[in-house]
Amino acid sequence: MRWKILKVASRALGKLLDEADARWVRFGDEVFFYAPGAKLKALRPGDGEDVTTVRQGDDDLPLGNFHLVAQMGRSFQREHPDVRVLFDKGRYIVVDLERDKAEAIRAEGHSCFVIEPLGDRRVMFDIRPAGAPVRKQPRASAMANAVSSPAFSGDLEHLVSLQTRLSTSTDFLGAANWALTRLSGFGYAIGMRPIAVGNLGPSVNVVATKASTAASPGEVIITAHLDSINHEDGPAGPAPGADDNASGSAGVLELARLVAMREFEHDVTFVLFGGEEQGLFGSRQYVASLAADERARIRGVINMDMVGRINAPPATVMLEGAPVSQDLIDRLADAAAAHTSLAVQISLNPFASDHVPFIEAGIPAVLTIEGGDSANDAVHTARDTLDRVDPAFAVEILKMNIATIAELAGVRETVVLTPLSCCSPFTSGTLPSPAGDINRTLAAHLNQLIAQYRRLEGERRLQAEDYQSWQDVRQMLESLPGQGRPA
Ligand SMILES: [Zn+2]
Repeated sequence: MRWKILKVASRALGKLLDEADARWVRFGDEVFFYAPGAKLKALRPGDGEDVTTVRQGDDDLPLGNFHLVAQMGRSFQREHPDVRVLFDKGRYIVVDLERDKAEAIRAEGHSCFVIEPLGDRRVMFDIRPAGAPVRKQPRASAMANAVSSPAFSGDLEHLVSLQTRLSTSTDFLGAANWALTRLSGFGYAIGMRPIAVGNLGPSVNVVATKASTAASPGEVIITAHLDSINHEDGPAGPAPGADDNASGSAGVLELARLVAMREFEHDVTFVLFGGEEQGLFGSRQYVASLAADERARIRGVINMDMVGRINAPPATVMLEGAPVSQDLIDRLADAAAAHTSLAVQISLNPFASDHVPFIEAGIPAVLTIEGGDSANDAVHTARDTLDRVDPAFAVEILKMNIATIAELAGVRETVVLTPLSCCSPFTSGTLPSPAGDINRTLAAHLNQLIAQYRRLEGERRLQAEDYQSWQDVRQMLESLPGQGRPA
């Protein structure tokens, strides 16, 4: 078997792949073909405007030698530097390895990478360009615009300041308690659920829920793993886990802060998992604990694992799911186009993070992760430090996610619009009304109050009782005479 990698313009892709008399696996706009030499030659006689050759092999390999590796960071290449890489797409690589050797590596059961026969007619990921025109949803826009970089960075810095967040350590419990306190402060119903990390010891998942007042609501779940690990220095080594995954955990807290201030058609649940790095223990046990009716009402799961680093321009987010999550992937890609400047990669090959147990249970889940994560070689080492996270990039991913949550969970209205819609009947009539001036004054006071709330929110100084007093103000407004009166 010979092999060849072609870069193909999207307008030429369908025809080329349909007609190819060769095995192929596509990675965005690049396609890895392999076939007996004559067939490969016939595939593409020369380069043109639409097709260029990226690379080709000049040796003959047995069919069984072509393998695909999906890896976290550079975990496979770090462990097997001697294995020849034919094509390097970071998270995915094509390697030349005899079948029995690949089988032996696979049998070792690593949690950081998988190796399998390369296969045929597979799409590993797709690319959507940034900024495709999409209709903006005003309420989603308001939530996306409210994402606060200082709030995110504050939580990120706290988590990274801990010596480790190894799932079975006391430091991890400290981090879990701290997160629980934050979520409780936002007004959530909270819970700390014990889990077992194999035979390594106990750990916990942190769960926070905002219940909808609807009769039979669905549920939207936002997740990240709170734990970190250091594979180079062992359990006693420092594991700052800034990108992997203080970034996703701080992201969960920031989205929780924003969700707390609105009301939704559906329940919204936030989960910070333990035991991810040892093999998805927290998320597996969470999914296993759900009854059939609880699973059935889940509208979508958005998982964040490494959302802090631009590994290669342009700034790219990878949306990784499965056919069951195609609708959620489309929503996220639309939100990225509408509310961010991110380029989007899409993969239907779920792997090695907390979205996997949900997908295996038939629940639509998507991993949102920085593009080109495998160029990030500090993952799972003491070098995954704060300076490697770019909060401005993380904020882009958070905007995409909160806009999607707003749509999927059915945000009812923003705090800003509530008092204004209440007061409009008084101020927009054509006849002079004696109540008009009073209510204009009231509206001005309310706007001041809202501005103050927003400032405190930005400074992360709002407590549960502040949200309660905000609800009280809203109730007072709704009881004012004139509600629902025609303008
Ligand atoms: Zn991770």
